[in-house]
Amino acid sequence: MLRDLDRAFVNFFEGRASYPSHKRRSGPSPGIRWPQGVEVNGRCVWLPKLGWVKARLSRKVEGVIKNTTVRFDGLQWHVAIQVEQEAIAPAKKKAPSIGIDGGVAVSIATSDGQLIHLPVATEFEERRLGMLARRLSRTEGGSRRNARARCRLLVLRRRISDRVNDFRHKLTTRMAKNHGLVVVEDLALRSLSRSGRGSDESPGRNVAAKARLNRSLLEQGHAETVRQLGYKLSWLGAELVKVPAAFTSQTCPQCGHVCTANRAARDRFQCVACGYLGHADIVAAKNILAAGLAVSARRGSREPLKREPARLRRLSRRQAGIPAL
Ligand SMILES: [Zn+2]
Repeated sequence: MLRDLDRAFVNFFEGRASYPSHKRRSGPSPGIRWPQGVEVNGRCVWLPKLGWVKARLSRKVEGVIKNTTVRFDGLQWHVAIQVEQEAIAPAKKKAPSIGIDGGVAVSIATSDGQLIHLPVATEFEERRLGMLARRLSRTEGGSRRNARARCRLLVLRRRISDRVNDFRHKLTTRMAKNHGLVVVEDLALRSLSRSGRGSDESPGRNVAAKARLNRSLLEQGHAETVRQLGYKLSWLGAELVKVPAAFTSQTCPQCGHVCTANRAARDRFQCVACGYLGHADIVAAKNILAAGLAVSARRGSREPLKREPARLRRLSRRQAGIPAL
């Protein structure tokens, strides 16, 4: 679409993206978009020039339909319906605060002492992924065997990532519902501040070769968790605060002593000054929460009680077809 091409070049010239690439001949497609003329009727979608197309709608379409995009992701066709509806700005929520640390081995640690593991690929699935990838590489490009092998691999990958995405959405929804303030580390500053922390996940075994999919899920995962928290919290009138991650894993939450020696092992924290013991990732989450509360308090004192009038706000929600959130 010309509008997309224009957008792509604008993004490129303003330094946000690399030079626009050509559309690929196979695999996921960018899709086509209808800016108008789309209707929805229970289990069918009316697409101009195509007519009624059956679709599994994951939720009710409410509001005025704006853009409708149909795209192929390599396995299935999806229809995304963008709607516009009036939304009332939520009142400020009073609820407990929480700090979150996105670790590597343990995916998420919270300041109230939870260690949450994402349901990434199991060892069996990892083995099967490797097997299917090898099988794919033995087929000739463009052949029917190649297409079938590729499809098998995609289906398994999709199943794993669907499971992780489902889990993440439920997790972020629960967190957004139950908290008035969520503090996370600022990922933009992460690579600099985390170097001293050591990112080795259970060294010894050949993690590098084995868990590539898991690693990528966990790595992108934290940014995605933060993104979901951001919009879900704002819908509910709660706040997301990002703080720099420096020293969060070396500071004692009890006495404030900062020292690399505090971190006895990858997951064990032991303060050399006062002897405080804890899980390193939970300690980091506690420090992140403390830093976030300080930021929030400062922000609160700078602009004293400016009540925002409850006004109508535009809100567009993406509505997906086949993939359930
Ligand atoms: Zn201490």
